[in-house]
Amino acid sequence: YLRRLRLPFCYLCSQSLPSRGCLMSAFDDLIADTQLRKAIAEQGYEQPTEVQQAAIPRALEGKNLLVSSKTGSGKTAAFLLPCLQQILAQSAVNPRSTRLLILTPTRELARQIVKNAQSLLRFTSIKVGSICGGEELRYQKALLRKNPEIVVATPGRLAEHVAHKSTDFSGLEFLVLDEADRMLDMGLSEDVLKIVESCDAARQTLLFSATLEQKGLRHLIKQVITGEAEEIYIEDS
Ligand code: ADP
Ligand code: MG
Repeated sequence: YLRRLRLPFCYLCSQSLPSRGCLMSAFDDLIADTQLRKAIAEQGYEQPTEVQQAAIPRALEGKNLLVSSKTGSGKTAAFLLPCLQQILAQSAVNPRSTRLLILTPTRELARQIVKNAQSLLRFTSIKVGSICGGEELRYQKALLRKNPEIVVATPGRLAEHVAHKSTDFSGLEFLVLDEADRMLDMGLSEDVLKIVESCDAARQTLLFSATLEQKGLRHLIKQVITGEAEEIYIEDS
């Protein structure tokens, strides 16, 4: 079909045209939960982006991942979708513990992730809480007591709550580090490590970064991911 159109690249997956045709699979091939599928369609997402195509199936297999791909390539859904799919498919190991923790460097990024997650969860009863600097500690403590399944946080403020023992990550199933290179740049690695120490060692860890070659990042990765990890590197096109 594409050969007839004389396109050198597949317009869906932007890969050069292989003889077998397009390599992309649809969201329906990757995500089993019907409520989640409905929300994806309502978002207007038709096809998974390259990084989503690579990360979602591997994350669903339970692998730890190190993912690098450029800004705007769809990394948020690449970590949200496999985590949400698994959260919806299985009940909590420990109902009082947070199930998914997402760390991101800035309040603005946290706000965007919360918005994206709530939109994907609109047909479910899963709750998302946000813990960032500049908000009242008392209010955040009350929020943590309500045991949201998902917490999106900036490391500085969350590390304070960990020190006050107002968090419960003892049954954490998924830890996501978004923009890990920027968290390192901003001097947040100490806070990140304090938080990670309080997380269930049996969790699955997904680390996203614009680059994996940054100075100091490998050291952080070694402390955050103890077992094996698979690397996904999506080249700029
Ligand atoms: P990144 O974190 O890699 O910078 P984002 O996750 O912020 O990228 O996504 C960038 C934009 O692309 C967002 O507006 C998001 O809603 C949109 N997007 C993500 N995945 C898809 C998709 N599969 N189809 C269409 N748009 C998408
Ligand atoms: Mg992002």
